[in-house]
Parts: sequence; C-alpha cells; structure tokens
Amino acid sequence: MAMSKADVAGVAVDTRHWIGGRRVASPGTFTDLSPIDGQPLAEVARGGRAEAMAAVRAAREAFGGWSRTPPPDRAAVLHAIADGIERRIEDLSQVETRDNGALLRSHRRSVMPRVAQNFRFFADWFATLDGGGLEISGHREQVSWAPAGTTAVITPWNAPLMLATWRVAPALAAGNTVVAKPPEWAPLTASLLADITRDAGLPDGVFNVVQGLGREAGAALAAHPDVARVAFTGSAATGRLVAAAAGAQLTPVSLELGGKSPLLVFADADLDLAVGHAVGQYDNAGQVCLAGTRLLIEEPVAEEFTARFTRRAAGLVQGDPRDEATGIGPNITREHLDRVDGFVQRAVAAGARVLLGGAVNPALGGLYYQPTLLAGAEPGSEILTEEVFGPVLTVQTFTGEDEAVALANDTRYGLAATMFTGDTGRAERVSARLRAGTVWVNCFFVRDLRAPFGGAGLSGIGREGGTWSFDFYADVKNTVYAGQGRATGDAADGGRPGAEGQPRPGPDGAPAARPQRSASRRASGATHREGGKGMGQRG
Ligand code: NAD
Repeated sequence: MAMSKADVAGVAVDTRHWIGGRRVASPGTFTDLSPIDGQPLAEVARGGRAEAMAAVRAAREAFGGWSRTPPPDRAAVLHAIADGIERRIEDLSQVETRDNGALLRSHRRSVMPRVAQNFRFFADWFATLDGGGLEISGHREQVSWAPAGTTAVITPWNAPLMLATWRVAPALAAGNTVVAKPPEWAPLTASLLADITRDAGLPDGVFNVVQGLGREAGAALAAHPDVARVAFTGSAATGRLVAAAAGAQLTPVSLELGGKSPLLVFADADLDLAVGHAVGQYDNAGQVCLAGTRLLIEEPVAEEFTARFTRRAAGLVQGDPRDEATGIGPNITREHLDRVDGFVQRAVAAGARVLLGGAVNPALGGLYYQPTLLAGAEPGSEILTEEVFGPVLTVQTFTGEDEAVALANDTRYGLAATMFTGDTGRAERVSARLRAGTVWVNCFFVRDLRAPFGGAGLSGIGREGGTWSFDFYADVKNTVYAGQGRATGDAADGGRPGAEGQPRPGPDGAPAARPQRSASRRASGATHREGGKGMGQRG
C-alpha cells in the first residue's frame, strides 16, 4: 500500500480520501506530477464507485444534523473554516503552485484570500436572504431556501481550491452536505481543506473528499441517485457527460464550462489600457476560462495595437512560478501542452501567421509554452472557435459596431466579453448585443460575489453568485399562511386565495399582517467584493 502522506514543499498532505470524518485509502493510486519540473509530488488514492458510494452515504447520514443546525451556527463554522484558511495561506499557496503551476505570488496575494472569502461571503449572504413581503388577499407568502441534500462538487485544475470552494461554501451555508471530487492533475489542496474543516469543527460527514480520475470517481458521483445537486466546473465535453449522467436521475446540475471570449478594442479606446489588459490574457499560461483569447481590433488602430501588444508581451518573463519575477508559468500536463501546440500547428498549416511565440519555450523546455499570437486565421476555423486553454491568442480586425458584434458572437461559447471604448453609448449598445454571461467595459476580471456568474451556450447552464447560488443549492420553497381569522381558499376555486390571481380582500378588508423579515438583515454580506484586476483571481 502506498504512503498515505506526501511532503510537498515541507507541507504534509494526506493523499487519502476524507469520508465521514476519517481518512480512507483505496487499493489503487495515481501519480500526481508537478508541471513545474515534471517531478512526482504524490501517490494519491484512486477512488471509484465504491468510494463515491461511501462518501455519499456519509454525507447523507450527516445531512440531518447539519441541515437542522441553525443557520447562524452553520455560519460560525464557515467563518472558522475561513480563519483556518487564512492561517494556512502560505501552506496552501506552496502546495497549489507545485500542483498546478500557477504563480505563487498570485496564490498568496489574491487566490487563497479569495478562498477564505468564499466561506465568509456565503455564510453571511445566506443570512441576508429575505423571502418575506408577498401578500395576497390576506394571505402571507414566505419564500425560504431549504437545504436540498448532498451536493457533488466536481472541479478543474486551473484554480482548484478557489473553484471548489466557490461551490462548496454556498452548499454548506445552505445546509447541504458535500462530496468534492478534486481534479486529478492538482488534487492536493482539497485534502488540506479537509484538515481545515475538521479543525474548524465541521461535523464528520458534512464535507467529504473523494480523490480519483474523472471517468471513475467523478462519473460515479454525477450518476449517483442520492446526490441532490451536481455542481460541475470543467470543459464542455465533460459537462455533457456530467449533465447526461445527472439528467438520468433528474438531478439538478449547475455547469460552469469553457469559453472563447472576445476582447474588443474600438478606435476610440484608451490604447494603453487595452494593450495592458490584452497582454494580461496570458495570465495562468492562458488556462483561464474567462480569458479574452480573441483580440478584435478596430481597423484604424489595429496596426498600432498589434505593434504595442507584441512589444509588451515579448517582455513577459516566463519561468518557474515560484519566482516573484515570473509572469507566466507552465501548462498543466504534457498531454495538455501537446493539445495546445496541435491547435497552433494546425492553424499555421491552414495559413495563420505567427506574430509571437508559436512553440515551446526553447530555453525552458518542459511544459513552458511561449505566449503566442496568431493573425490571419481562416474565419470559422477551429483556432477562432474552439477553446485552446493555453497561452494562445488570435487577432482579427473589424470596422464598426455591427462587424464587431458579429465577430464577437461567432462562437458557440458565451462566457465573457471584454470591450475597450471611450464612448459610453457604444459600450451600452454593444454590450446589449454580446452573447456573454459577463461583459467587462474598460476593465477585466472585476467580480463581485453578489453578482451572477455563468455562461451562455457551450459555456454552461445556470448562474451562481449571491442569491443565485442559493437558488441552485437550496430547495426554494413558498409557504402560504392564511391571514388571521381567514380560512384557506375554498374548494370551489381550487383552494387558491383568489381566482385567476385576483387578490381577494381579507374578511375585514384590511391588508394582511406584514410578514416578519427573516433574521437576516443583521448580516453584512453585501459588503464583500472580489477586487480588481485579477492576476490570479481567475475562474
Ligand atoms: P475537465 O472537464 O477535463 O475536468 C473537470 C473535472 O471533471 C475534473 O475533476 C475531472 O476529473 C472531472 N471529470 C472528467 N471526466 C468526468 C466524467 N466523465 N464524469 C464526471 N467528472 C469527470 O476540465 P479540465 O481540463 O480539468 O479544466 C479545464 C476546463 O474547465 C476548461 O474548459 C475551462 O474553460 C473550464 N473552466 C470553467 C470555469 C468556469 O467557471 N466556467 C472555470 C475554470 C475552468
């Protein structure tokens, strides 16, 4: 049997599952390699159907107690988890960087603080939900967000802990229990999170981790009949499989999938600002679902923009993500790098011109793919329509708003769009026509946890963030109370308070008593904000 602990940068990481408050091994393991140097980091338990079943069972057993725990007490545990994350930011950052190759400084400064914030925000926001205030003919209607059951959370490697906790935290806040399946290419911080939840006093079985491959452990969770929600983040191809498996059980699914987002620069834009943000799209070696990988530049400024862009991008420092000076690290695996290179070589063979990069970094080798810019790609070709998920951008030109919108929408994805213009009216007109879950105007990656997040088309199904998260994780319920001294609607009108939605007056003609507002307004959820231009705050 393989060792149950790995030493990663001096941090002890348990490589087993976390099920029902116990560490559980599997007969088999898989090898977790670091993209920094290709060296093995750990032998990780390879869970499958048996482990998925055991974890769902544990989560279901824990559901009764956790779902009945008063929300303020649940929130207190979530804040204790956030405290634990904040105490271990350095450990989490070191392990995550070795595991997925993203910049250490981003993990320290923005990603891990945001992981803690995920718990704080959703703990507080749940308390602000207020479903009171509906009245009809003397009846009071009260909307509530009831715990739904066990939630499976399946996530990718490009921001493993951030993306997992953005789903785990609202699920727990809503009173659900969770089984998380971390990505097999970067599985380790999920195990540290299990330690942190235990130390924070989260009851056994409320949070579980099943390690393993997607087609084994992930597939077993998505298809499990006792799972009440499936929260999936990953590629559109896997999203289809997950949705089909969950659909067979009629399990609600939230899908956050890939993107092929446009970055539009109009001739009236602040060109320096636009160039800076465009170069920023190489963040995390292009492994960012929201990245604006298609640069669409208005004709009069296209030459100037491209010259400035290539000059600036050529200055990016590529190298070891642990170095403070590094701006772009490695891609995740050899297989993924080959896939990225395949896109580039096919585009070039079809006539695209390489303005920058176009190959593995000759000095670094390994998984370090050079920041790449391609021009002149054939309209409709795969490099302009498929998600590459590497440091590969394309540039196209347009004239006027109609052509800008046509090019921007010329993809089946619809996750995000970014636009630079000095004209507010244009920003509003164009934004209204873009097919995207998020549109940024003269900025990028500003995300507020209260706002809806999700995509159109192949980019996903559903929205999360703020109350949208709870609309998914909870069973939204409407309870109708008869007003004082007022019987419920009679059988003749089907028991409704008013036929055809016409309100009836109460017996004394007075409006029904004002409903009590939920306990909630005490909390301060509305003040949290994920800030800024986000090297590292990727989603
Ligand atoms: P992936 O789809 O290959 O894997 C995602 C997760 O699904 C992993 O945990 C994997 O083990 C699991 N999985 C694989 N096969 C499965 C199956 N048959 N059943 C159940 N689970 C299965 O994606 P990836 O390569 O890890 O991540 C990159 C993709 O994620 C990109 O497309 C990127 O755009 C997308 N992404 C989207 C968002 C978003 O918020 N919209 C955020 C980050 C990444």
